[in-house]
Amino acid sequence: MSDDELGSHYTDVPGQRVVAAALRAAYAWSVRDVHRNAAMLEIARMTGVVMEAHGPGRGPVTPLELVGVLRASLGSLLAGVRGRPAELADVVLLDHEGRLTENAYDLVCEHVVPLKDVVGSRPWLPSWTTMHSDQIRQQVFTAMIASTKQDEYVASRRFLVEHPAGDEQELVELKDRAGGVRLAKGGYRDVPEDQLYRAPNGKGWWWPCAECRWPMAVASSGKVRCRYRPHSAVFDLVPGDRPVLRRRDGARRSSPPAGRPAEGAKCVDAGVWRFVVVPGASELRIAAAAEHAGAKVLLWPFLDRFDLLVEAGDEKFSVDVKECLSLSSLIERLRRRRPSARILLPRSCEWQLETLQDALPELAVLTETKFLGQVRSAMRKAR
Ligand SMILES: [Zn+2]
Repeated sequence: MSDDELGSHYTDVPGQRVVAAALRAAYAWSVRDVHRNAAMLEIARMTGVVMEAHGPGRGPVTPLELVGVLRASLGSLLAGVRGRPAELADVVLLDHEGRLTENAYDLVCEHVVPLKDVVGSRPWLPSWTTMHSDQIRQQVFTAMIASTKQDEYVASRRFLVEHPAGDEQELVELKDRAGGVRLAKGGYRDVPEDQLYRAPNGKGWWWPCAECRWPMAVASSGKVRCRYRPHSAVFDLVPGDRPVLRRRDGARRSSPPAGRPAEGAKCVDAGVWRFVVVPGASELRIAAAAEHAGAKVLLWPFLDRFDLLVEAGDEKFSVDVKECLSLSSLIERLRRRRPSARILLPRSCEWQLETLQDALPELAVLTETKFLGQVRSAMRKAR
């Protein structure tokens, strides 16, 4: 990625800088037992960013004051700051145990901008706390596009979406079998501790989400669920040396996933999961449904000019799937870069339709439900 492309993600809007700094400080606080000095230094730096945005005499002035504010809704930290995202006013970043909240992973991460003037590398800070989502995607796809062969690009991206976690040896074998798969170096890492259960005998276990296959978060309360809340199944952990999950809502629809041993297990980094795997799972689901209806589907055609090219009977549809929980980030992004296909809101985002149409009336937007209806009706006409 060139400096220019990187530079386009930097921002001087104080509200965005405060959100980015708050998330970094909250993350640092949540891992302070592991990364002591580095974490406290990071919180001090982020206090500086917040103070600068607030101006003299307002807002938290010490690292501990900042941490205290992060346990309350962001609205108080953002009060009076220019360019603050209204949709984050009620969001809290740290829970009472000092862990990051679910909102940090599924919504606030979509607001992250890199902080240009905060120099020095911090390998312990995950990409999703320091980089814009487009940068993370670009980094992943650049490695795949190296060959400029469409079929290799599709095989690589599909592999990553379908196998975001697994036994390391098994992943290597699957990759060899798929053929032509190119992934960025260091793409898989150990499963983080807060996505594992440690049994009394010391063995670790993890459980894949039924929708995205990434290890679900395991709370100290025993609640197990995917960090992306639209993947909504919630389980209770039945502890022991052979732990099992029980569905919390008692639904019998799908049986809980079986536990997998943590030893030898790897998963993609949280940024790659959130910005490549989560939307990718929706893209593949929609493609499979269109194929099931009898349509022909090309994934990520022309090296990703848009997401799906669907040929149903005599009709052709090109769509770009937008899985973005932050409506304001989505609108801002679409304003900045005009899409080259119709915007498709997947199941989890169908609620955004009306607001998006009001904000950008010239854009063609439709929902997953409506789109699949159009595909089926085109197929019926062709018969
Ligand atoms: Zn999931």
